Amino acid sequence: MADSSPAQIALILAFAVGIPAIYFLQRRVFGPDRDTRARCPACGSHRFKRVTWIRATVIIDGERAPDSWGYFLCQSCGGRFKQRLGAGFEIPSEEEWAQHCSGRV
Ligand SMILES: [Zn+2]
Repeated sequence: MADSSPAQIALILAFAVGIPAIYFLQRRVFGPDRDTRARCPACGSHRFKRVTWIRATVIIDGERAPDSWGYFLCQSCGGRFKQRLGAGFEIPSEEEWAQHCSGRV
């Protein structure tokens, strides 16, 4: 390896730069979903707390099925959110928030 050709040096450089770059990019792309700390979907703050979690039984096509969802409050921007298990954030109505979250915040 004493007489490395320019092609070999280029290959080594490609690995040295390319692998951290790929690692960095895939963290940028997939990182947020793996982040176990909840983040506010509006402002991205970590001061995002779950106010309550609801477990219920719903009827889908005549079959009883378990369902659950949570209500979240951002302590940074004051945003209120609702999230079903495995789904994205929705904005709950004022009545819904009052029914489930009043007295808990
Ligand atoms: Zn926020």
